[in-house]
Amino acid sequence: MGCDVHVAPGGVPVTASRLLFVTYDAAGNPTTYEANAPGRKPLCGLSTWNEARTDVEAIRIALDDRACTGEYAAAHEMGHALVRARGHTLTGVLAGGHDVGKSDRIDDASLTAVCSMRPCGAFEPER
Ligand SMILES: [Zn+2]
Repeated sequence: MGCDVHVAPGGVPVTASRLLFVTYDAAGNPTTYEANAPGRKPLCGLSTWNEARTDVEAIRIALDDRACTGEYAAAHEMGHALVRARGHTLTGVLAGGHDVGKSDRIDDASLTAVCSMRPCGAFEPER
């Protein structure tokens, strides 16, 4: 019962900075910065994916972003690593960092997202 979760040898490194900003190239690949400048968007956190986009290779989080806490950012990015997908829920810890429904809670939507996208021995959401 529960989700079948694998962690690659060496795990997923997590680094934190006070603030985090991003730009994306034409192919959607991000470049992160610790200082703001024109054209950069603030981020709560960012997962870096392997070339096949199937596994998170590294996680960066911002500790002082005005839209989120470091705890939210770490839990949110860890959710992406567990789900092995980029999508967001509408509520809870897996909602996007600047989404209205975001919270520090592992709510039904977050749990359902992880367990519905991972190979689980049994998928029985709580009622
Ligand atoms: Zn996200």
